[in-house]
Amino acid sequence: MRFETKAIHAGRQVDPVTGAVTTPMHLSTTYERSADGSYTDGFMYSRGDNPNRRSLEECLTALEEGYDCVSFSSGMAAISSIIEALPKDKPRRIILPDDMYFGVLTLLNETDIGRRFDIITVDMSNMEELKEAAESEAAGLIWIETPSNPQIKIVDIAAVVNIAKKAGAVTVVDNTTATPVLQNPLSLGADFSLHSVTKYIGGHSDLLLGAVVAKEDGPMLHNLRTWQHAKGAVPSSFDCWLALRGVQTLPARMSVHCSSAKIIADFLNQHDKVEAVYHPGLPEHPGHDVAAAQMSDFGGLMSFKVKGNAEDAIKVANTVKIFTQATSLGGTHSYIEHRASVEKELTKAPDTLLRLSIGLENVQDLQEDLEQALAEI
Ligand SMILES: *Cc1c(COP(=O)(O)O)cnc(C)c1O
Repeated sequence: MRFETKAIHAGRQVDPVTGAVTTPMHLSTTYERSADGSYTDGFMYSRGDNPNRRSLEECLTALEEGYDCVSFSSGMAAISSIIEALPKDKPRRIILPDDMYFGVLTLLNETDIGRRFDIITVDMSNMEELKEAAESEAAGLIWIETPSNPQIKIVDIAAVVNIAKKAGAVTVVDNTTATPVLQNPLSLGADFSLHSVTKYIGGHSDLLLGAVVAKEDGPMLHNLRTWQHAKGAVPSSFDCWLALRGVQTLPARMSVHCSSAKIIADFLNQHDKVEAVYHPGLPEHPGHDVAAAQMSDFGGLMSFKVKGNAEDAIKVANTVKIFTQATSLGGTHSYIEHRASVEKELTKAPDTLLRLSIGLENVQDLQEDLEQALAEI
């Protein structure tokens, strides 16, 4: 099966009991035990496993071409679990990219999980810098996020994997912004591909879910699977059901997100109130060639800097009418956000930067909305 077909069929079948084409939602928390003590259908208690979660995990495994998938109650639950799943015999050093999802920095800077690791940050668009960091002291884990959030940097996944393999480090790719439609980290050699399913895969800003897909079997996957039910940060059947509904239209939605984003990036790039546009589809983006090689299209996320100061940027975010001023990305609605005021003191986002998640509205409406907002500064 090709991607679009798997998005609709993988992990699902016509319900054998009722003939229902859409997988029913199973809310039962517990399952009947047979006289001999076994569970004939393989389910015992829904924290351990349940039909909707299993369907979703099978579907995501197929889409990422992995070995297995473990899902969690949010992207952050998936992230904290994979970091803690690092086997004890691996060095405690984690190498992070210098631009990445802010929640990971909060987790590592403000909780005990972070204190158990030695965290260093490098510019992963510079392979020399990464090589030096990986060779100077053994690292257990190298984290990749590409395109990154919010500065839309591109990391060459295969090149980082190459360095990580030599250093004996595990590689995790946060594939949320690219989605499995545009980028397949496991085929580029990464050990794990991770998603905030909350974003593009769910696709409608109405569920919270995280997932990790493993390239192969091993102790980290075993830890993840055990922790999923032992720690209990599991997704609800309803959220799994919604994610399975959303994922069916993921390829179709991504093609609109990508084509509209290109139009908006070109428009902003020519606008005299705009200082810089960060979208990998623009030929002058420093990661354009790598993105063109490792992604099938350039995604629906971008950032731009307005000419002027932070107040001007905030004014644009306050003046748009169709874009919603909100955090998150990957939904049907377009979002605009001034990341520096959301991230506060720890932010690395420039204070004139606005992040856009291009939704599925008419692209001309989106362009005119930005046009009228930029005219106000
Ligand atoms: C939103 C997001 C997360 C966190 O996911 P939640 O589902 O909100 O917990 C992690 N990584 C990226 C890139 C994200 O955009």
